[in-house]
Amino acid sequence: MPKTIIWDLDNTLYFETDEYKNKLNEATAKAAIEEFNIPLDFRTATEKVKESYATYRDGLEIFSREYGIPHKDLYISYHNYKSELIKTIAPYEGLPARLASLKCPQYIFSTSSKDICEKILKHIGLYDFFAERFFSVEDFDVYKKNENADVYKRLCRTINVAPADCIFVDDSYSNLDFAKQCGMTTVRIYYGSNSAKDMPFIDVAYKGIEACIDGLKKDFGC
Ligand SMILES: [Mg+2]
Repeated sequence: MPKTIIWDLDNTLYFETDEYKNKLNEATAKAAIEEFNIPLDFRTATEKVKESYATYRDGLEIFSREYGIPHKDLYISYHNYKSELIKTIAPYEGLPARLASLKCPQYIFSTSSKDICEKILKHIGLYDFFAERFFSVEDFDVYKKNENADVYKRLCRTINVAPADCIFVDDSYSNLDFAKQCGMTTVRIYYGSNSAKDMPFIDVAYKGIEACIDGLKKDFGC
């Protein structure tokens, strides 16, 4: 039985540079200040986003906890700001053909909003390949994929594949933790050093997308 690959999108099917990550943090800070009037200057709010990632593995969470901003509202607003950044993403050359060379069925499951997923996929040349096969947490009325395993089970029911038959690929180990709890095989893409190597919920780690695709072929018969 061939496995089904479920890809993360952000920083997995394209690379987030440090500059891009900073811009994302600034987008969150801008949304919190301009749309929700949090009483912080831009620099302090941007530091708060980083603190939020470090503490909650989510850049928005701290604003709902400390300022009572509904997570969903900030999520929507943040994505409006994120939309402007998509044009700065450098697509991987040749990736559509490389993905098409994999024999396994492939889907995407992203924390980005549905609309942003669509825009990014069009920008990086993968929209046609993944049309009807990309899902946002929004499709399940949640706004994170590192909170519990339930959303992974619901994704599996939607695509009609058992968790045990899925390989979930993500750069974020907090996501992989819940994919593993749901029963999936877990693959981490990393870029620097493999800081997740002692984490039992990660089955395999590959450095970068090229090694990952080669590994899926060689180690999983995809
Ligand atoms: Mg990611």
